[in-house]
Amino acid sequence: MARIRAVRSSVLSIPLHTPFVTALRRTSTIDTLIVCLDLADGTTGLGEAPQVWAVTGDSVASATACVEQVLAPVLVGADSDDWDALAAGVARACARNFGAKAAVETALLDAVARAAGMPLAHLFADVAGVPRRVSRGVGLGGGAAGVFEVATDVTISAGSPEALRSAAQARVAEGFTRLKLKVGTDAATDVARVRAVREAAGPGIGVRLDANQGWSREDAVAVIRALAEADLGVEIVEQPVAGDDVEGLAWVRERVDLPIMADETVYGATDLERVIRLEAADAVNVKLAKCGDR
Ligand SMILES: [Mg+2]
Repeated sequence: MARIRAVRSSVLSIPLHTPFVTALRRTSTIDTLIVCLDLADGTTGLGEAPQVWAVTGDSVASATACVEQVLAPVLVGADSDDWDALAAGVARACARNFGAKAAVETALLDAVARAAGMPLAHLFADVAGVPRRVSRGVGLGGGAAGVFEVATDVTISAGSPEALRSAAQARVAEGFTRLKLKVGTDAATDVARVRAVREAAGPGIGVRLDANQGWSREDAVAVIRALAEADLGVEIVEQPVAGDDVEGLAWVRERVDLPIMADETVYGATDLERVIRLEAADAVNVKLAKCGDR
């Protein structure tokens, strides 16, 4: 057993080499709350609550207040062996505040895994009763039964076709094999921008789109059909319409052939059930900052 000695938080602001621009926002820094959870045996686990005013409504100020005043008191002094019940207690401690809850739960689980000398992935695998696997480069050992790799994508901010072309070339030169392009800022010219990226990236590179709720239902269907028609090799289109318009998401999906992914529509299990019931999406973007609820 290890007693939880402290839950600490600090604000981290990281400048970006390129401004991050979506249909919802523009930012030149990443502002995030880092949560450190200390066990009595000297182990520290880490979690993070990013500030995303336009998406989750969370700020570093609100997350700091939530962690310090509401969530830390649930954990400090408790035994980390009870991590499952403690995580449930964190989720119940207050309404919403998903980013703060996710950060604290992540820090708790990270500390438990580190104290046991295993990667977090192994802890999850053991709980789920599935074989342990570890991604290449994690290097914490622990009897990995297999190795797997996941090719991540890199986001290209919304911008002019010229800016997108050079950004796509730069990211591919850096070794990325999948690009995620922000669209939805202007339905009339979105297809031209995707074409610029496809031409710059070449045929072997995966291209995914994220409209960040930027289209109306009708615009979404028109643009996605035009993209399919232009044969630009788009893998998936994320959140074409407003997050709370689940019926609209289903309406769009029914009328297009490209796969649709839900992001701002899904914040937890209740949202996910609704998406499944309405057959509103082919995939869901899971972000820890959205998943502080149970
Ligand atoms: Mg998204």
